[in-house]
Amino acid sequence: MIRAPSHAWWHTLSRLAAWLAVCTLAGAALGSAPGGLTFGLAAALGRQYLRLHRLLADLGGRRRLPAPDGWDLLAEIRMQLYRRQREARRRRQRLQALLTAFRTAAEAMPDGILVLSRRELQIEWFNRAAAGLLGLQKRDIGTRFRNLLRAPRVADWLAAGAAEPLFDLPAPNDPARRLQLRLIDYTAQQQLLIVRDISKLLQLEQVRRDFVANVSHELRTPLTVIHGYLDMIDPSEHQELAPLIVEMQRQSGRMTQLVEDLLTLSRLDAADHLELEPVPMAPLLASLLAEANALSGGRHRIALVDSAAVDLLGSARELHSAFSNLVANAVRYTPADGEIRIEFAANDDGGARLAVVDSGPGIPAQHLPRLTERFYRVSASRARDRGGTGLGLAIVKHVMQLHHGRLEIASEIGVGSRFACVFDRDQVLPRAGEPVRS
Ligand code: ADP
Repeated sequence: MIRAPSHAWWHTLSRLAAWLAVCTLAGAALGSAPGGLTFGLAAALGRQYLRLHRLLADLGGRRRLPAPDGWDLLAEIRMQLYRRQREARRRRQRLQALLTAFRTAAEAMPDGILVLSRRELQIEWFNRAAAGLLGLQKRDIGTRFRNLLRAPRVADWLAAGAAEPLFDLPAPNDPARRLQLRLIDYTAQQQLLIVRDISKLLQLEQVRRDFVANVSHELRTPLTVIHGYLDMIDPSEHQELAPLIVEMQRQSGRMTQLVEDLLTLSRLDAADHLELEPVPMAPLLASLLAEANALSGGRHRIALVDSAAVDLLGSARELHSAFSNLVANAVRYTPADGEIRIEFAANDDGGARLAVVDSGPGIPAQHLPRLTERFYRVSASRARDRGGTGLGLAIVKHVMQLHHGRLEIASEIGVGSRFACVFDRDQVLPRAGEPVRS
């Protein structure tokens, strides 16, 4: 029932006035009107104090306030308190239900979830999946996360800020199970660690890789035979079939190159590290120049600038394959009379870079981030016409990753492109026979 406070005031005062009038009249009848009034005031005050005392006792106890009845001021105060208490109780129940729902959802998640303190990365809470994936128990609450997973990769990942997810980590209690860890900012005091079982995903990825490798391998022999026989046919001896034979030779050459590139990628995919050896750069650069000249057939001006005076530490075979891909692209996409430069130079940080620079048509900026994806081409028809497989830059990127380096691409429309393989100082050796530079 909603009543206006002015109503309660009016009710209280009128009742008090009526009571005092009755007491005064009774006092007058008994011979002392002031005596009756004094008695009435004392009784009214006493009653109010008693009611205030009860209200205070009700508020002090943790019990629910009883629903009030009555019309005066104290009843009104009780009513307001009763309503507030009921509202607060309902709000608390709603929050509790929401919290229970969130907890149940977090418990039911197939991914492991851990709440960690931000500074020390202490475990504050984890769900059932996290317990299963990381072998956690209730007593691990309060333990530092880095003390639980002691793999050096985890320590390096945390030290580097854990901005990117950590991929393919063996589970502590079952190394056959592979995990992905991801640290997410949560609140000002906490971080959320998501642990995902990616064993199935990695298995599927392996099946895909094996499939591509097997298909490429199976195709290689028949293609080599067909290509070999086609090469033996001289189109000039079969005038009417000449265009057909030339096209067949071109297409079988493309297919053979495609299979070779797929096999190279499969080999790189399977290798998680390379056998490193000193790679003498002078002969490698000379052979790149010779390849460029052979591919160009004199249509371009090609120069080699070797100012690094260092050699590389890496796999000669893979580095040669990566650099040749860049050189072949420069020759392929630069129009006749264009300029191509192969530059090998030292970096200020002690590393080195091999760059292939051309004066070709350039690549629109929006394509640059995707160029190293498999089969990504700026113009599919043009790339195919020029004999590209769409796998060249994917191979280069992969080779650079295995050498802990990177591929940098810069290009300007109408000016040309620059593809640079950048190596850390760890991959650089003094060149045999050269004085060491300070
Ligand atoms: P492809 O075998 O088609 O050349 P790549 O992976 O080597 O495949 O290159 C991907 C795409 O990048 C090419 O299709 C081409 O559009 C572009 N590209 C690569 N190198 C150059 C270059 N030097 N100049 C212009 N475009 C290039």
